[in-house]
Amino acid sequence: MPMDQNTLTLSEEDMRKLGYQMIDAIVAHHKTQHEKRPLALASREEMDSLFLEEAPEKPSNANEVLEFVVEKVLTRSTLLSHPKSYAFVPGPSNYVSVIGDALATGYNIFSGSWVTSPAAAELEIVTIQWLLRLFGLPKKKGGGIFTSGGSMANLTALATARNIKCGDDFSKAVIYLSDQTHSSNIKAIRILGFKKEQIRIIPTDNEFKLSLNKLKNCIAKDRLNGLHPFCLIGNAGTTNTGSVDPLTQLSKICKEEDIWFHIDGAYGGAAMLSPKGKKLLKGISKADSLTVDPHKWFFQPYEMGCLLVRNYRHLTHTFTERPEYLKDIEGNTSEINFYDLGVQLTRRFNALKFYMSVKTFGLNAFRKAIGSGIDLAERLEAHLRQSKQWQVVFPATLAVINFRYHPIEENLSESQLDELNHFISEQVMESQLALLATTSLHDQVVLRMCLINPRTTWEDIQHTLTLCEAFAKQSSLWASP
Ligand SMILES: *Cc1c(COP(=O)(O)O)cnc(C)c1O
Repeated sequence: MPMDQNTLTLSEEDMRKLGYQMIDAIVAHHKTQHEKRPLALASREEMDSLFLEEAPEKPSNANEVLEFVVEKVLTRSTLLSHPKSYAFVPGPSNYVSVIGDALATGYNIFSGSWVTSPAAAELEIVTIQWLLRLFGLPKKKGGGIFTSGGSMANLTALATARNIKCGDDFSKAVIYLSDQTHSSNIKAIRILGFKKEQIRIIPTDNEFKLSLNKLKNCIAKDRLNGLHPFCLIGNAGTTNTGSVDPLTQLSKICKEEDIWFHIDGAYGGAAMLSPKGKKLLKGISKADSLTVDPHKWFFQPYEMGCLLVRNYRHLTHTFTERPEYLKDIEGNTSEINFYDLGVQLTRRFNALKFYMSVKTFGLNAFRKAIGSGIDLAERLEAHLRQSKQWQVVFPATLAVINFRYHPIEENLSESQLDELNHFISEQVMESQLALLATTSLHDQVVLRMCLINPRTTWEDIQHTLTLCEAFAKQSSLWASP
C-alpha cells in the first residue's frame, strides 16, 4: 500500500478504501450485534499469545491491520451495547453519534478554547443549555462541561465544592454520602486529599435511600465537634437499585446548613426525559452540581460524561489559571474557554455527537427510548411476581430491577439461595449468552438487570430467564439430600 512514511499519510484512494472498510465493519456490527455473544472471556495468557509483540519498525498493509483488528481484537471485547448486556450500567450507544465521534476525530478539533474552535465551544454551550433546561437548572447563571465520564464529572464537582465552600483550608471539612453512593465519589474524595475521618457514610433505609434523620444527627454532631460540614452527595439513581434519595429534603438541609449539594445522576439523571422518571427525580433541580453520563442513558458512545452547575462562575473560580502561553487566546468573557471550567486543556469535541444525535432523532425519540426501558423493567417485575420460581427482591426503579431465583416449593436457606443465584450468574456468564451479574442487597445475593438498552426486547429477557432456569436445575444443591 503506497503511503508516505515521512508524513504519516496515505494516498486519497487508500484513505477511502480504509475508511469504507471500517464503515462496513461498523455497520455490519450494528446490524448483527444481537446475534453475537455479548461476553468475551479470555485469560491474560490467551491474549498475550495473540497480541504480544515488540513495536514493529517496519510498515504493514493498513487494510490488513484493520482486518486483523476487526477479526481478532473487536471479537474479543465484551459488548455493552448488546441487547443482552444487563449488568453494570450498559452503554447502548447509537450510530449517528458514532459518526459524530468519527468526524470530531477526523477533523481533530481542539475543543478547549473559543479561539481553537468557536463552533465546538458554541455547540457545547448549546447542548449544555439543553441539559440545564431539562434538569431545571438556571439557564443564564448555570453552566457545565462535558467530561470523559461520570467519574471525572464527580471529581470536577467535588473539587468545585471544596474550593467554593472551604477555600484553601479544608482540614476541618466533612463530606456526606450514603452507603449506596457510587465508588467514583469516594475515589474523587481521596484524590482531592481528604482523610478517612472527613468522610461520613450515612446508612440508607429499606429502599436504599439516604436516611434523613441519620444525616441530620451526623451533621449536628460534627458541628458540635467544631468540624465544617461542606458537601453532601445525593443519588439520583443508585447503581445497585435505581433508588433516588429524598432530593427535595436533602436540598433543604443543605440550604439551612450552607452545604454544597452535589447530585450524582450519572446513570439515572437521563430519566428526566420520561414522565415517570421526572416524577421520581423531583428535586434534582435543587442541585448545586449535577453529574449525568451521556454515555449511559443518553445513548452516546464512550467517553462522554457531563457536569452541570447552578452557577457557572463556581467552575471558572475553581479551574481558571492564566499562563502566559494561553494569553493570546483568552478572548472576551462571553466566548467560553472550556479549559477554564474543568481539568482538561486539550479536549476532544464531545458535544458534536450529542448534538448530531439529538438533531437527527429528535428529543422525543430519546424520551420514548428512555420510557421503554422503564416500562420493560416494570413488565419484567410483573412477570416475576407471577412466577413460583422467581422472587422480586427490589422493584423496578429507573429501569433497574433486582430479583433472585427462589423456587418456593424448595425451602432453601438464605445461604443456599445465595449459592444458587451466584451459580446461575456464573453459568450464564460462562455461556457468554448474556451479561448478567449479581449484586448484594441487604446481604442477599441477587441478580440485577439494568434495562436501558432500547433494543433489548421482551423476547431477549424471556430467553435469558429460560437460560437461568435451565442452569438452576444443574446446581449441585439438588444432587445430595
Ligand atoms: C457509572 C456511574 C458513575 C461513574 O461514571 P463513569 O462514566 O463510569 O466514570 C458514577 N456514578 C454513578 C451513579 C454511575 O452509575
